Amino acid sequence: MASIFSKIVAGEIPCYKVAEDEKHLAFLDINPMAPGHTLVIPKQEIDYLFDMTESDYIDLELFARKVAVAIKEAIPCTRVAEAVLGLEVPHAHIHLVPINTEADMDFRHKTTLPGDQMASIAARIAAQVK
Ligand code: AMP
Repeated sequence: MASIFSKIVAGEIPCYKVAEDEKHLAFLDINPMAPGHTLVIPKQEIDYLFDMTESDYIDLELFARKVAVAIKEAIPCTRVAEAVLGLEVPHAHIHLVPINTEADMDFRHKTTLPGDQMASIAARIAAQVK
């Protein structure tokens, strides 16, 4: 069965898209730790990030870097943190989270934001993707 993220890639489930290229997609996490919390995925479904080929993994990280730079431009923050868990969704993904303190990166404390706010955050980040 296709992962929920493959359904997003296929357009069967909506997302707040931030960036896309031929092989990758970036969209807002539906339960963000902070406004601008973004997930970066390979379009081709693979469960475990570190099972990716070296070349696919490097391409994903290069894409994530581009998105992280855009997040830093769009969202006031000290750093954009990167994390990999993969405990919930079996489709490799990288979390990018704008943070000011260590407490901003707490996977036990996520929130939800109104749809119009999510759409506006996604648009602000998308506008900074070079
Ligand atoms: P993990 O697999 O532990 O890295 O966590 C998966 C992340 O995906 C969580 O932070 C969820 O909030 C997020 N998530 C799950 N479903 C969706 C969705 N449909 N759209 C955006 N983010 C999602």
